[in-house]
Amino acid sequence: MKIIDGKLLAQNLRAEIAAGVAKLKAEKGVTPGLAVILVGDNPASVSYVTAKEKACAEAGMYSREMRLPAETTEADLLAQVKALNDDPAIHGILVQLPLPKHISEKAVIDAIAPDKDVDGFTAVNVGRMMIGERCFLPCTPHGIIKLIEFSGMDLRGKHAVVIGRSNIVGKPVAALLARKETNATVTLCHTGTPDVAHFTRQADVVVVATGRPGTLTGDMIKPGAVVIDVGVNRIPDATKPKGFRLVGDADFESCSKVAAAITPVPGGVGPLTITMLLWNTLEAAAGGELRVIS
Ligand code: NAP
Repeated sequence: MKIIDGKLLAQNLRAEIAAGVAKLKAEKGVTPGLAVILVGDNPASVSYVTAKEKACAEAGMYSREMRLPAETTEADLLAQVKALNDDPAIHGILVQLPLPKHISEKAVIDAIAPDKDVDGFTAVNVGRMMIGERCFLPCTPHGIIKLIEFSGMDLRGKHAVVIGRSNIVGKPVAALLARKETNATVTLCHTGTPDVAHFTRQADVVVVATGRPGTLTGDMIKPGAVVIDVGVNRIPDATKPKGFRLVGDADFESCSKVAAAITPVPGGVGPLTITMLLWNTLEAAAGGELRVIS
């Protein structure tokens, strides 16, 4: 059984991205710029934003963090997004979710210019992805495809089962797996699926993204399957300094006895999400003119 090392893959891809940034600076005089807007001080969001800034700096990119108070109005936030749309130093705009309840996330996300939507969340980008046009692929789903390839599995002709149908993970992963260039046969399971195990037992690859620990157990997969565990769940644990430990949605112990390869939590999907954000920001700065990354 192989552990799919997300940290190693992220490190390899970030080296490639940093080389692309250096090339873009040298050949075009352009430094990729990412603006990250954070409204309020949700501790998880603060740590995500800090990690994104650090990753930008390490890749040689410019990052601009905009921390706005929780009482910011939707009109003010929309004005900030519009200003960034027109700012030539900024190639990618990310609005950290969730937003305070009085602000419409849909209105704010759809205000981002599609050619700066490096999260791939605008309706325009999602639509382009669905019809196979060039677009920014959403970061976590794109990272999941990279991890499956990194595990050594050739997805063509394979049966992939995705558990979970959220707009940010399950649905886009299913769409990417079913694209002609990937060519997997896809089954999408959710809470309306009466017997999830019936499908997962037939799967060559299972992607589990439910936010519920223990959704996938070893008896639900076939020997030799590849398991991608997207879940990040905090379990109270008094022996840990922070008082909790992180577990995924798959039961690692039982799944790792049956699977050919599995992602750990932490250290699997997580490191890929920011990496693919950097990837998209570089692509945005290159403007499609320069093929800087493979
Ligand atoms: P979400 O919006 O809560 O969606 C969960 C999905 O799972 C829903 O479609 C739900 O079905 C389905 N589901 C829940 N329990 C199920 C069960 N027992 N059997 C079958 N389907 C079930 O969650 P999300 O945003 O996709 O996130 C999923 C997990 O991934 C979370 O732990 C999250 O923290 C993690 N995550 C990690 C990263 C990363 O970078 N590593 C990024 C994003 C998310 P219904 O639609 O029928 O309700």
